[in-house]
Amino acid sequence: MGTGGIDPYKYVGRKKFNIKTFDTSDMGGFGDRSEAVDEFVRNLLKINKLQQKLYAERKEGVIFVFQAMDAAGKDGVIRTVFNTLSPHGVKEYCFKVPSAEESSHDYLWRFWSALPARGYISIFNRSYYEDVLVGKVHKLYENQILPDRMHDVDIIRQRYTQIKNFEKYLYDTGTRVIKIFLNVSKDEQARRFVSRIDTERKNWKISSGDIKERQYWDDYMEAFETMVNSTSTSINPWYVVPADHKWYARLTVSRIVLATLEEIDPQWPVISDDELEMVQEYRKSLVESLSGEYEPPEMQLPDFANPGVLAARIVENEERGKIVEQIARRKELGFGAVEKLLEQQPVIGSLDALIEAVANAKDNRVEEF
Ligand code: ATP
Ligand code: MG
Repeated sequence: MGTGGIDPYKYVGRKKFNIKTFDTSDMGGFGDRSEAVDEFVRNLLKINKLQQKLYAERKEGVIFVFQAMDAAGKDGVIRTVFNTLSPHGVKEYCFKVPSAEESSHDYLWRFWSALPARGYISIFNRSYYEDVLVGKVHKLYENQILPDRMHDVDIIRQRYTQIKNFEKYLYDTGTRVIKIFLNVSKDEQARRFVSRIDTERKNWKISSGDIKERQYWDDYMEAFETMVNSTSTSINPWYVVPADHKWYARLTVSRIVLATLEEIDPQWPVISDDELEMVQEYRKSLVESLSGEYEPPEMQLPDFANPGVLAARIVENEERGKIVEQIARRKELGFGAVEKLLEQQPVIGSLDALIEAVANAKDNRVEEF
């Protein structure tokens, strides 16, 4: 069992982040990946439900910022943790080298249009933090034409303050920014690059830029450390996630997303007594308009409406009997009732078809986890 949780990885501005002593291969007390699958799947189910409430309530927006060295697993984390969510309420933005138009503006300009509306989640796959990472390592600001009054200014130090102020402004106006640094070791990065070169289907991921940036490893580490220590606050924390084990990084990020949404604690909107009375009237006339008797719909298993999550559970358990047993226990139903319910699943058709679908879905998240 995992024991650590996310607190050891959370920085709110008090405890200092020391990148030299940070254990990137930490597994948080788990023996191996298989021990963590069950929690990961349960977290996804909970995140799914909370995101629906967040969207329905439309009270608060959330930004999850992801920063990392190349090959740390950003894309995989985002894919596995967020792809159970409705695309309706979640948007991912990938920020690359700024375009000519973007560079002709202040560095925060391009992020305004990516801010989430209330109820929405924005995923920033890289962000304005690049401006204090690659921007710092390569002193990119020196290439910009700046007004004279900015020539003697410590630009990077100034940006930490500006970013903190920007995030505070967002928090005060209804948007949380949660920052996640996937911290991979230099050795593990080398292993992943080699695997990308050796595996044909991964070849497209290699870029000469990645190899070039690796030469600046120590400068990047210094920049990450200072960034975390200069921009962590209690309202906009940084999480530094050990990323040498992909499954543990994914589990940890699922915990962070879950904890964030639980803290927001969104509620289903309730309608007023007047409106309730009105819809009851409406209900009456709808029922009267029916040609036959009104029958409530068959009970559904909402958690399993998502084939990905369902597949995850099945792949994990492999045998049909075990699955039925689990569902029966969770839903407090008899085995026969579970079989019947599974057969009623509109997407899947029958349990056998479901198991077959799972067997075919080998690129499923649990495979990756
Ligand atoms: P993947 O390689 O998985 O497609 P990626 O995020 O690494 O994803 P790339 O196109 O390889 O995408 O890299 C984006 C590059 O853009 C990074 O090298 C990053 O440092 C750079 N970048 C992002 N923002 C800025 C910025 N503000 N200034 C300069 N470079 C930036
Ligand atoms: Mg890249």
